[in-house]
Amino acid sequence: MQKVHNLSAGPAILPQEAIQKGAEALLNFAGTGLSILEVSHRSKEFVAVVDEARAMVKKLWNLNDAYEVLFVQGGASTQFLMVAYNLLKTKAAYIDTGVWSTKSIKEAGKFGDLEVVASSKDKNYTYIPKDIVIPEDADYLHFTSNNTIYGSQFHQYPETRIPLVCDMSSDIFSRKIDATKFDLIYAGAQKNLGPAGATLVVIKKDLLGKVDRHIPSMLNYQIHIDKDSMFNTPPAFAIYVLLQTLKWIDKMGIENVEARNRAKAELLYNEIDSNDAFVCPVSAEDRSWMNATFLLNDASRNDEFLAACTEANISGIKGHRSVGGFRASMYNAMDIDSVQALVNVMQTFK
Ligand SMILES: *Cc1c(COP(=O)(O)O)cnc(C)c1O
Repeated sequence: MQKVHNLSAGPAILPQEAIQKGAEALLNFAGTGLSILEVSHRSKEFVAVVDEARAMVKKLWNLNDAYEVLFVQGGASTQFLMVAYNLLKTKAAYIDTGVWSTKSIKEAGKFGDLEVVASSKDKNYTYIPKDIVIPEDADYLHFTSNNTIYGSQFHQYPETRIPLVCDMSSDIFSRKIDATKFDLIYAGAQKNLGPAGATLVVIKKDLLGKVDRHIPSMLNYQIHIDKDSMFNTPPAFAIYVLLQTLKWIDKMGIENVEARNRAKAELLYNEIDSNDAFVCPVSAEDRSWMNATFLLNDASRNDEFLAACTEANISGIKGHRSVGGFRASMYNAMDIDSVQALVNVMQTFK
């Protein structure tokens, strides 16, 4: 079969190696003679998977024992709610940079005062707000590191003394960061980590136990910590593939993952900027390395361009329904040849 270039925004491309390992475990997991779909989550083989995945996250980010690594369910969307449930006493600060930020604000608003300290809504989320003043009396600051739908990304993180909470769903482990600057990081797996169904949460333990409200068990971080992410049955297959992705990142080295992501983004944005058929709506300094959004100057040719992409085996290039245009997602697992394939189509198209 000819290679299909998967530029889909999510669920999205995964390392071939991780998919291969997943396929093997579907048939015979860890030599048990059973499928990973049918083994007990309390079997020593599966407990070892969770332990290794937890250790791998800590290794990749150099985290000490002040941090806990959790695998929960409900996607990043449940984290919008869970963060506020567990951390919001009186007031929280939020940065609004797009659809996902807006949703997190909507969920958290039910738990206390929210101060939206910055928003790029005025220009249809085509930039990242700068010089943000963050109130020192807020319980935490929440932001979205990469805006999957609008194609913008924080290339410098906000500096603050209050706890820093980040939705890293779409750029997790895509570059070297100082994770110890954060107090809570979460990510739905299906963009850069694994299949849908698992959600990674990294949390600094001293953040917990400060709110008075009753927190339902499934939404209580402390309970998931106490139960080693096994308060209820975890999505075993999703966590297994997630572990394989983490191992792939570790083997490749996060610096190399970053260099490759940078090279892919440069290749594509250079083409968009130099090709007069296309335009990128996002300010140059805030463009996402993961999701590049672009438009045709002549929108009446949209279908023609889509057809040319399909012809070249490029899949998933259509922009989000709320934004239109096109979006090329270039997550960690993607080779530069897939971006080159798109660039070739763009050059011919002009
Ligand atoms: C996809 C996405 C979400 C939603 O994730 P679910 O796992 O579907 O809830 C949230 N935030 C960001 C940044 C995303 O890209």
